[in-house]
Amino acid sequence: MGTLAQRSRLPALRHNCMIRLRRLQPLKSWNTFGIAETAAYGTVCTRVEQLHSLRRRRELHGLPLLPLGAGSNVLFAEPFPGVVVRVRLRGIRCVAESAHEVLVEAAAGEPWHNFVRTCLTQGWYGLENLALIPGTVGAAPVHNIGAYGVEVAEFLDGVEFWEHESGQFLWLPAAELGLGYRSSRLRTELLGRGILTRVRFRLLRRPRPHAQYPTLAALLERERIRHPTPWDIFHAVCRLRRQRLPDPRRLPNAGSFFRNPIVPARQAQELRQRYPELPLFPAGADSVKIPAAWLIEQCGWKGYRRGDVGVAPQHALVLVNYGGASGREILQLAQEIARSVWERFQIRLEPEVLILPAQAWQP
Ligand SMILES: Cc1cc2nc3c(=O)[nH]c(=O)nc-3n(C[C@H](O)[C@H](O)[C@H](O)COP(=O)(O)OP(=O)(O)OC[C@H]3O[C@@H](n4cnc5c(N)ncnc54)[C@H](O)[C@@H]3O)c2cc1C
Repeated sequence: MGTLAQRSRLPALRHNCMIRLRRLQPLKSWNTFGIAETAAYGTVCTRVEQLHSLRRRRELHGLPLLPLGAGSNVLFAEPFPGVVVRVRLRGIRCVAESAHEVLVEAAAGEPWHNFVRTCLTQGWYGLENLALIPGTVGAAPVHNIGAYGVEVAEFLDGVEFWEHESGQFLWLPAAELGLGYRSSRLRTELLGRGILTRVRFRLLRRPRPHAQYPTLAALLERERIRHPTPWDIFHAVCRLRRQRLPDPRRLPNAGSFFRNPIVPARQAQELRQRYPELPLFPAGADSVKIPAAWLIEQCGWKGYRRGDVGVAPQHALVLVNYGGASGREILQLAQEIARSVWERFQIRLEPEVLILPAQAWQP
C-alpha cells in the first residue's frame, strides 16, 4: 500500500456515550419479515463509545446479546430474552491506496447498497455484483454475503470486533473468520459474543468485471453489452434483483430462506438420471451445489399461500409474510418445505436465515 489517503465522513462528536435502553423492545420494524415479537431490551448504537455502557448496565448482566443491522436475515420465532443492539454506526473512509488496490473501511451500520455505490463512485471496484443486497456492512461478513458469482470474502481484509466479555476491540483478519458458503465463525462460535464495529475491504483500482454468472451474462448479452464496466454490472444486477425478488417493504421477507445444498457428486449424478433438467453447479472437488429453489419448486411450493404465510410467487426460495404472520407460522411452513424436499430427493435443506432461538428449527 502506498500513499495514505484519508477521506473520512465519520460523524462529528455530538452525543454523550450513554445508551438508551428500552424494555420490551418491539421488533416488528427491526426485521424485514415484519414479525411482531419483542426483545427483553433494545437499544440503538450510533457511537462505539456507547458499547461500554452495555457492560455497565446491571439489568443487562447475564442476558444474551444480539447485534442487529437491518434485520434482513433473521426470523424471530419467539420473544428474544436478551438485549438487541441495533447497530447504526456510520462512516466510510479510504485507509490506504496503491496503483492497484485500495483499503476501504466502513462502519458496521452503513447500509450495504449505499456502500457499494459509494465505492463505485470513488473508482473502488469489486463489490458491484453485490449491489442491492439489503442490510448493513457489519452483517456482510457474518454470513459471507454473495450474489451473481461473487462473495464478499474475496474482498474482505478484516473486521473490528468489540468483545462483550472483555470490553476490548479486537482486530480479526479475514483469514481467521472461517469464511465459507454463507457461513463464518461470526455466525457460529462468535455469535452473541460481541459486535462488529468496522469492516475493512481490499478493493481494486482497476476494474475486473465478473460477468459469467448465467442470468447476469444473459442479461448483458440481451442488452448487447460485450465488455461490461463495473457500473454496467451494478445496473444489470439491480435490474435482475428488482425483477426476481419481492421488495421486503411491500411483501415482508428475508431473502433466500434456505442455503443451496451441497451434495456429493455421485448423489447428484444419480439424481440427474431421474431428473435430466436438474441444474448443477460445481462446488469443490467431489461436491455439487443444487439450487434449493429448483427442489422446492419441484415439490409444488412456489406461490403457495396459507393464511398470512407463503412462498413468493416469483421465487420459490423466498418465504413471505402477507401481513400478520408469526415467526412460528413461518418456521412451520419452512419445516414442511424442508421435509417434503427430503422425502422426494433425500436432500436436507438448511436455513440460511438466522432462526432465533436456533433450537426452534426441527426439520
Ligand atoms: C430481499 C432480500 C434479498 C437478499 N439477497 C441476498 C443475497 O443475494 N445474498 C446474500 O448473501 N444475502 C441476501 N439477503 C440476506 C441479507 O440481506 C444479508 O444476510 C445481509 O447481510 C443482512 O444484513 P442485516 O444488516 O439485515 O443483518 P441482520 O439480519 O440484522 O443480522 C444478520 C446476522 O448478522 C449479525 N449481525 C448484524 N450486524 C452485526 C454486527 N454489527 N456485529 C455482529 N453481528 C452482526 C446478526 O446478529 C445476525 O446474526 C437478502 C435479504 C433480503 C430481504
